[in-house]
Amino acid sequence: MSLKTRFLSLAAGLIIIAACASWLAYRELSADLIERWGRQVAEIQVRYDSARLLQSLEREIGLARQMADSTALINWSAAPDNKALKDNAIREMESFRANFRDKSYFVALRASGRYYYNNADNEFAGEQFRYVLDPEKPDDAWFYQLIEEGRDFHLNVNPDTELGVTKLWIDVLMRDPAGEIVGMVGTGLNLDTFLQDIVDINQNGITTLFVDYGGAIQLYRDRNYIDFASVIKPEGQKNTVDLLFENPEDKQKILGMLQLLKKNAGQPGHVESGFVTVEGREHLAGVAFLPAIGWFEITLLDLNTLLPQSYLWPLVAVFIASLLITLIVFHLIIQSRIVKPIMGLEEAVEKVRSGSFALPRLDKPDNEIGRLADHFEKMTDSLRHSTQELENKVAQRTDELHRLARIDPLTGLRNRRGLDELLLEEIERAARQGTGFGVIWLDIDHFKSINDQLGHQAGDEILCRVALWLKASVRPYDHPGRWGGDEFVILLSPCSPTTLEQIATRMRETVEQESRKTGTPVTISIGGYFSEPGDDSDTILRNADQALYRAKSQGRNRVCINGPEAIETNRV
Ligand code: GH3
Ligand code: MG
Repeated sequence: MSLKTRFLSLAAGLIIIAACASWLAYRELSADLIERWGRQVAEIQVRYDSARLLQSLEREIGLARQMADSTALINWSAAPDNKALKDNAIREMESFRANFRDKSYFVALRASGRYYYNNADNEFAGEQFRYVLDPEKPDDAWFYQLIEEGRDFHLNVNPDTELGVTKLWIDVLMRDPAGEIVGMVGTGLNLDTFLQDIVDINQNGITTLFVDYGGAIQLYRDRNYIDFASVIKPEGQKNTVDLLFENPEDKQKILGMLQLLKKNAGQPGHVESGFVTVEGREHLAGVAFLPAIGWFEITLLDLNTLLPQSYLWPLVAVFIASLLITLIVFHLIIQSRIVKPIMGLEEAVEKVRSGSFALPRLDKPDNEIGRLADHFEKMTDSLRHSTQELENKVAQRTDELHRLARIDPLTGLRNRRGLDELLLEEIERAARQGTGFGVIWLDIDHFKSINDQLGHQAGDEILCRVALWLKASVRPYDHPGRWGGDEFVILLSPCSPTTLEQIATRMRETVEQESRKTGTPVTISIGGYFSEPGDDSDTILRNADQALYRAKSQGRNRVCINGPEAIETNRV
């Protein structure tokens, strides 16, 4: 896997991990935020709904209490058939009717069970006495139950079958000065209007309901759940609030909250909250106790409706976009600052490895890689330099070895190999130009005996001297060389047969004369051959050798030239 792919995979991996972690953190955080927000909203909503309920009830309750305290009614209750008291009481009732919001009232007398009622249409003017309550009738049980309980004030949602209305009844016990319960008075609020005003308000995502002290549902938008006449129902048959929840844990939770609020009834305004599921959707329930009426107010907030998670999608989009931008920026930075310079460096290393010092232009970012590229360039420079030096030295040495391989170490003249190469060049040149050249083959006379008499060292010195004399005898462009032992070969080019003979003779004379001066006279025998174009080296050397042989055999210290017009001896 390339470095770039690795970096990108690593970056992508890290970003995915970071994104997942961020997403989880975001979910936790947003759930936490929504929960905190929801709890606050629930508290505010509970207080608001409670205030609305109490506001509309308080005045009615106050009036009902006043009515229960009315002396006219209390006095009359003791003598319900007393016409004067009755008229007075009816007047009093009617004056209260004018004040009640529903323009209706009821008065029930304990002793006689008589039930008085009039409504907004003043339908029962003069006939306020409607019927007599019967302790045996289930419909009337509420009256006897409330008296038995002795609760001075009570709210009751109850259909009145006799009157044909369903109302939220405000029931207040009427007591005589001795504190004895003499009856019950109150008013009713039309349940439908009341529900519409207080509970059924069109607040999307918010459900409000009221339950009594025992948890029985009193006000709820779905009338089927309302526990009508709950005061007379035995426990277990009531429509309690837990009916609204499918989940047993939620039922327990809500009932637990009610218990907790009952315990903390001394802290007005305290709100309990918790998550519950209603109709398959998660809701935040806020519950408060309303001590003024002894009911609980429950507000259910559908958080998904109030604060749909889709509100947060733009945030998620920004988050994803910033992650992508980060990935791209990261990629570009890695690409330009690391991957590209390293790839360039790798290419350069590969070139140097394969022997080329022509480096491509290297990227040098301002970091370790840039410095590495710089060092590499300098290193390559010095490598190029030292390689060049080495190559030069090797070339010099090779030239030197080449030269030494063609030089006779003793005399410094060309050796046999040098002479062979030169001879071939001359043959080629002669063939090319159609001109001839001269070859001299000479041998020192009786050199063996010189060696024997004077020693090998002296023999060497003589060889060196002869070489010098030969050099001095030839033209600058002639090529003297030592063939081996005491034999020398000289190539003369350009040359003519006459020049050949002249130079050979001059050589012989020079050696003879110069050696005499040294006190060790030496002579040489010379064989010469004037090569014609087309002669090969064997022919040339053989002819020169034969001429030398003749010079030797004719008595030595002479020149013999082999060729078409052979020049014979030239002896001094
Ligand atoms: P000739 O006149 O027939 O040439 O008689 P010669 O004694 O010179 O016989 P030849 O040329 O055959 O002998 C060459 C001698 O040269 C034999 C050998 O000992 C001697 N010699 C060969 N190379 C060297 C050398 O490098 N140094 C010395 N000192 N002697 C050498
Ligand atoms: Mg010899």
